[in-house]
Amino acid sequence: MKPILIPVQGGDPRPVGKILAVGRNYADHAVEMKAAPEPVLFLKPTTAIRLPGEPVRLPRDRGSVHHELELVVWLAFGGTALDETAAARLPGAYGLGLDLTLRNVQAEAKAKGRPWTVAKGFDGALPLGPLVPVEDVPDPAALSFRLEVNGAVVQKGAARDMILSVPRLLSAITQWITLEPGDLVLTGTPAGVGPVGPGDGARMILDGHYECDVQFV
Ligand code: MG
Repeated sequence: MKPILIPVQGGDPRPVGKILAVGRNYADHAVEMKAAPEPVLFLKPTTAIRLPGEPVRLPRDRGSVHHELELVVWLAFGGTALDETAAARLPGAYGLGLDLTLRNVQAEAKAKGRPWTVAKGFDGALPLGPLVPVEDVPDPAALSFRLEVNGAVVQKGAARDMILSVPRLLSAITQWITLEPGDLVLTGTPAGVGPVGPGDGARMILDGHYECDVQFV
């Protein structure tokens, strides 16, 4: 098995391990989803990844696909049952990704008490931007980002608005699941999620670092 390598700005590509994600980590998005602002963990498979520049083929006839722009953390170190201080040392790079979600499929899963696996894990469900090494991110809590779809800004987020900050989120994950070097953690999406379809173009903007285009087909 060949590891998936994510490009890094000014550095060597980094291999990806498992992918953890959190839902409802921003109060404004919980409100728009009519859900409790209570973070919920789930997994996405590595086969969902689409690298920068790769077109993203969306599923057909499975209801709407929503964009969820998220700050992504790539881990240089791992650990088990870490406290917040120890967890704060894990990140090796930051970037952006789209936690694409089959919204109708997810709503049905929620109603039936079923897992979100296919709604969040389908092929192409994780277009990624490049990574920025931690050395180039002096204050991760100050990171901010936005998403444009067909030229209009639809989502704006800031790390400081997360319910669980990155160190608290990483610590919380390690109480259940051991994190390892190479793992990716998706930190949740702010308000403004909405549908994308074939022919749409998105631009992920990590303020002060990069812009990365995603083409949906
Ligand atoms: Mg999400």
